[in-house]
Amino acid sequence: MIVEMKTGAGKTQVNAVVEKAKSLGLGVQMNMGTDKVVVAMLGGNTGQIATDVFAILPGVERVTRIMKPYKLSSREVKKQNTLVQVGGVEIGGDKIVVMAGPCAVESEKQLLEAAKQVKSAGATVLRGGAFKPRTSPFSFQGLQEIGLALLAKAREQTGMPIVTEVVDPHEVTMVAKSADILQVGSRNMQNFTLLTSIGKSGWPVVLKRGFSCTVTEWLTAADYILTEGNPNVILCERGIRTFEDSTRFSLDLSAIPVIKKASHLPVIVDPSHAAGHHDLVPALAKAAVAAGADGLLIEVHPKPAEALVDGLQSLNPAEFTKLMAELRLVAEAVGRKI
Ligand code: PEP
Ligand code: MN
Repeated sequence: MIVEMKTGAGKTQVNAVVEKAKSLGLGVQMNMGTDKVVVAMLGGNTGQIATDVFAILPGVERVTRIMKPYKLSSREVKKQNTLVQVGGVEIGGDKIVVMAGPCAVESEKQLLEAAKQVKSAGATVLRGGAFKPRTSPFSFQGLQEIGLALLAKAREQTGMPIVTEVVDPHEVTMVAKSADILQVGSRNMQNFTLLTSIGKSGWPVVLKRGFSCTVTEWLTAADYILTEGNPNVILCERGIRTFEDSTRFSLDLSAIPVIKKASHLPVIVDPSHAAGHHDLVPALAKAAVAAGADGLLIEVHPKPAEALVDGLQSLNPAEFTKLMAELRLVAEAVGRKI
């Protein structure tokens, strides 16, 4: 942590900073410039000390942290890529994993049809929401426990591992019975009680990026799961909120190489929620693979026009099959496989 004094800050003000540091068990290194004094804090656990304890002192211009706020998710802590193993599928390795299926589980027929279609096109994980956290309480909230039972049935019939969202920290164990991968939705990325509960469960998890959160906040949220001893975290970029309104959200493709540099965790991309329109999904999915994503999470519905949720952004089975063929070429071009 670096404390930068204001130009012309007096000796008493500088001393007050030094005394505060000592009282917190920190050493100091003084840098006396011609106009300014900069005090570098040494030793101790500066990560646990609020910058405000210095920022509030008279004569202090700015306090800057040097250490990154995220730790366990950082490549500094673990150099080699994390591989998450789920029901015979590896996420984070050479092979790009495609997770696909409807936004919400609507009926047995809809789910089983979708499962068979995405499987035959080459998807290896089935997605489907049983608990749907909707912006409005009057929108369809998902089939909930009935939806979970249908997901379990789809897994039994197709052999595909399931990814589904959990919204309540007390329901993690219940949802995990029907899920191979738990999903934390964008709106819950900073629901720290939920993250801790998933951390304790040890269950593989797709942690979606909060649509108003920075990469740093996202990795710090991942630390909540990792610190409970659960290493099976898969990050998912799904678009962030910007001034641009021609798409539902703005897919932050830069996040992929940024994460690859900063973290050892696998990162997948959800082009469906970013785009908001099925026409845009293939281009974003291909771009994500080209940019180094370890997988994709794509909404596919047997009959998008009849979908209860997110029909406009869902691919129909033919569109999905075509996209898979294109994705294989892109994957090969960047030295990977699907
Ligand atoms: C979803 O994938 O079902 C979903 C609701 O996405 P998000 O949390 O990214 O909005
Ligand atoms: Mn959806």
